[in-house]
Amino acid sequence: MAETVPPPISPPAIAALSLRGVRVAFGEFVAVDDVDLEIHPHEFLCLLGPSGCGKSTLLALMAGFAAPSAGTIEMGGEPITGPRPELGVVFQSSDALFDWLTVADNIAFGPRMRGMSKVDRAPVVAEHLRLVGLSGAADKRPPQLSGGMRQRVQIARVLANSPDIVLMDEPFGALDAQTRTVMQRELDRIWRERKNTVVFVTHDIDEALILSDRIAVMSAGPKAGIKSVYDVTLPRPRDEDSSSYVDLRHQIREDIAVEVEKSLGEQP
Ligand code: ADP
Ligand code: MG
Repeated sequence: MAETVPPPISPPAIAALSLRGVRVAFGEFVAVDDVDLEIHPHEFLCLLGPSGCGKSTLLALMAGFAAPSAGTIEMGGEPITGPRPELGVVFQSSDALFDWLTVADNIAFGPRMRGMSKVDRAPVVAEHLRLVGLSGAADKRPPQLSGGMRQRVQIARVLANSPDIVLMDEPFGALDAQTRTVMQRELDRIWRERKNTVVFVTHDIDEALILSDRIAVMSAGPKAGIKSVYDVTLPRPRDEDSSSYVDLRHQIREDIAVEVEKSLGEQP
């Protein structure tokens, strides 16, 4: 009898990040509750929701800055117990930059801390300056730069650490509308080149549509959760005038409007 060879069993795809039954309470106030969310390797996922719904709270858990009151958060199957180098975080404010260091030295900082030699750091810095379009500003210091340029430095600095996952909390929130649009397009280009796993927090529907593979819409708090998840399969770069883009924006806008009304109804 011919020996039957069992078909190869592919290992189960491990989620890049996995949140199960997550709750965060601040004293009596339950900000988020019962959140289940899987972030797939190499996807760009946006957490979209009205102001105050708990987006930053969830991102802080993923970054290991805080622990959930209930539930679990795992990265590649391991619980997250604190900040780790595989998780890079880009904040809304560029205060995290070192103003006394040049742009190049800001980008070199992480690799230097990891013990990379100066000779090995040079190409890493050059590559990341190129990636974010700042090759001409290598010797400038952050205070000499515009807000958009400072956010480029933050992105380059985080990516120079080769993180598996990049967490971004409204990184363009403090920028003017024009710069913001440029930065969204830039980040889309950078992501297509790098394909890091990204979790990006925003309250801006267009920002989410330009950047995401999936959009997780949050409900209004208290006890906020993931209300719905949209797959965004539109080709990149996204065409904001295409009918499928406009349709999806309309659908998500309706979804969010309900939540904004709910949260306004709860104001004293
Ligand atoms: P978002 O980022 O979506 O705007 P946050 O995650 O910052 O919202 O906040 C969610 C809710 O949790 C808000 O009602 C906020 O006031 C509350 N909150 C956030 N951090 C704290 C804290 N440290 N103590 C008490 N309440 C908090
Ligand atoms: Mg926030």
